[in-house]
Amino acid sequence: MTGKLKSKLQVMKFGGTSVGNASCIARAAEIVAQAARENAVVAVVSAMSGVTNRLVDAATHAAAGDAKAGATLIAALRQQHQDALAALVPAENTRTAVADRIETTLAEGQRLFDGTALLRELTPRALDTISSLGERLCAPIFASAVSELGVRGVAVDATELIITDSYHGGAEPLMEQTRERCEACLRPMLKENIVPVATGFIGATREGALTTLGRGGSDYSATILGAALGADEVIIWTDVDGVLTADPRLVPDARIIPEISYREAAELAYFGAKVLHPKTLRAVLPAGIPVWIRNSFAPERAGTRISQQGRSIGGGVKALTAIRDVALISIGGPGIVGVPDVVGRTFSTTAELRANVLLISQSSSQNDICFIVAAADAQRTVEALRREFAQDLSHEVVDHITVDPKIAIVAVVGENMRGTPGVAGRTFNALGREGVNIIAIAQGSSEANISFVVEDGAMKQALLATHREFGLANAPSSREENSEFQDVRK
Ligand code: ADP
Ligand code: ASP
Ligand code: MG
Repeated sequence: MTGKLKSKLQVMKFGGTSVGNASCIARAAEIVAQAARENAVVAVVSAMSGVTNRLVDAATHAAAGDAKAGATLIAALRQQHQDALAALVPAENTRTAVADRIETTLAEGQRLFDGTALLRELTPRALDTISSLGERLCAPIFASAVSELGVRGVAVDATELIITDSYHGGAEPLMEQTRERCEACLRPMLKENIVPVATGFIGATREGALTTLGRGGSDYSATILGAALGADEVIIWTDVDGVLTADPRLVPDARIIPEISYREAAELAYFGAKVLHPKTLRAVLPAGIPVWIRNSFAPERAGTRISQQGRSIGGGVKALTAIRDVALISIGGPGIVGVPDVVGRTFSTTAELRANVLLISQSSSQNDICFIVAAADAQRTVEALRREFAQDLSHEVVDHITVDPKIAIVAVVGENMRGTPGVAGRTFNALGREGVNIIAIAQGSSEANISFVVEDGAMKQALLATHREFGLANAPSSREENSEFQDVRK
């Protein structure tokens, strides 16, 4: 039976903490069921919190030859997921099919761990398949929790929906094929008033090999599906009230930002604000689909709206973010002034390694280039550079290629900073007063961010000082009355 025309199409994503146990799943399912009475809804779910980390950890142990790590984890996951299912679907006969599906997924997991331990090898492709188990266990449970509320929920493996390239561990969607799959699979379900519950985080190549979009990638799954279906909005339900002026775990008086532009939110995500996967907004940008960040633990609160325009507030600086687990690599020596291709060779080398360069700074005397990569990429980057510049090093044209692993980037973000002079100066002064040493500074050409490289140990102090300097705790808000927004959940 086809129902009445729904007013809009919403894609709703629930993160790990929002599906962390049976009562969280019940709360999330209620949000979906309520929305689905008015709107067409596609749900996207993450793994229950912590599950992906545990899977990756067990896979690493298995690859080191530990034959038991996999079995121990599979037993724990069985208990956790079957218990959650039983709590959400009390009638045993109703839950048999889902319980069987959980067992099938767990059995596949066991085989993957056994194979890994046997071969003592963990390929990126195998790691993707192992990492996917959390979402594939969670989606069927979530779908049955929605069904319990009188709205039909059906779990869909995103390997059927999101077609990607074959870059395991950080695949990119192929939107044309993804659109076709979504039309063929999801559209008919929506017409039947079914809520498809898709697994976040994963996709598959055209040949059907499972891929992942990168850690924290379920946010991206939601916007990919939103774009593919031409949704009216994407809502990312998480464990905080929205995008805040800084990470509330580091800056306790961080405050909610009611509206923010795509560009600002993307800068925050790119520089480490965990609330959004860095690629999330890419998918919705061309169609201008608004994205909301809302708190699944307090659904009555409005959250943050991310859109093309955003809404400007106050003196330019909108939010701060910081990224740690990064390393500063510097390459230099007086001789490099005369070597015109040092910059080109340096970044061809990083590109070949697919090492993501987060920030670049060059001294005006041109005898030193420094740049930042993820700490995990640092060692192989330095080794590759030493190979590339071996001759120059031996002729002392280049006299050092060094790495400093104990650093962090603090980024000041706000589209209105453009044309607001003095942001860099005020940040410098604030950090100076606190005795925080600035190692390097870079300004994005969009002028929507200025980033400072500081020692890792000084990161929190730098954030607190900058947050205070720009009065972000008191930033004017369109929902001033809701001062309880500061009560952020963790
Ligand atoms: P989920 O499991 O729902 O995907 P995440 O843990 O990935 O949630 O992201 C939400 C977390 O992001 C919050 O709990 C918060 O600690 C952190 N966070 C970091 N920076 C910000 C920010 N500027 N605004 C809101 N949350 C932030
Ligand atoms: N479960 C995946 C992770 O932990 C994806 C996500 O939660 O967004 O990385
Ligand atoms: Mg996340």
